[in-house]
Amino acid sequence: MARADTLARARELDHPELAYLVRFPAADGSQDMELTWAELARDTNWVTERLREHGLAAGQKALLTTSGFEGFWGHAVIGALRALRVTYGIAEAMGWDHRRTAVFHRELDPNVVIGLSAETLEGLAGAADIGEMFRSTSVVLARPAAVPVLRGVGVSACMITALGPALALECPERSGAHVNAAEWRVAEQDGELLIASGEQRASRLPAIPLGIPGRVITGRCACGSEDPRVLLAEAGPTSSSRS
Ligand SMILES: [Zn+2]
Repeated sequence: MARADTLARARELDHPELAYLVRFPAADGSQDMELTWAELARDTNWVTERLREHGLAAGQKALLTTSGFEGFWGHAVIGALRALRVTYGIAEAMGWDHRRTAVFHRELDPNVVIGLSAETLEGLAGAADIGEMFRSTSVVLARPAAVPVLRGVGVSACMITALGPALALECPERSGAHVNAAEWRVAEQDGELLIASGEQRASRLPAIPLGIPGRVITGRCACGSEDPRVLLAEAGPTSSSRS
């Protein structure tokens, strides 16, 4: 009873709007941008719909590999998994934690793996057959440098990547990673990607070059979405500093 009272009182208190201060690499050095709880909730809804398109549903199991500093999108993915009632485990995306990914893969037997990095694959490759591990996984959403490695061994991976403060997520059509047009503007200039905040975003971000080679595809995707898609210039397994 005392706890219920405490919670009721806590709900009446003022809550700060700010959820995260997002620091991201851009062409001219690090940039900061604020992320509010309201924006995080909208981002979570968008990711939920993207994961639903990939067939994620209640009762399935997921493995998420992410790093603490990626909380601005990791939180949205976790929120989406909870909303879809998908059980999840989390491993660190840095190479040194690849054994945790191996353990989760064995013990959890996930239907979906999200955020696989080239460093994790490199670590796993020492003791396992990557293709055998992930070919039977229904949905594999991997970082840019990991996608060609996985596809090279017959895993039909889709791309997930941070684009500065935004998240890009490829749909099952695998024809470029979608960016939420309600929240962000993506563009290309001289073969590199730019990102800007949409009108809804509390923290304004003018179009800034990200130093990521790629191009933007507009128009309706075969999945039905009007959200623009980005195609990255293919990165090798070792050039993963921006993945
Ligand atoms: Zn699509």
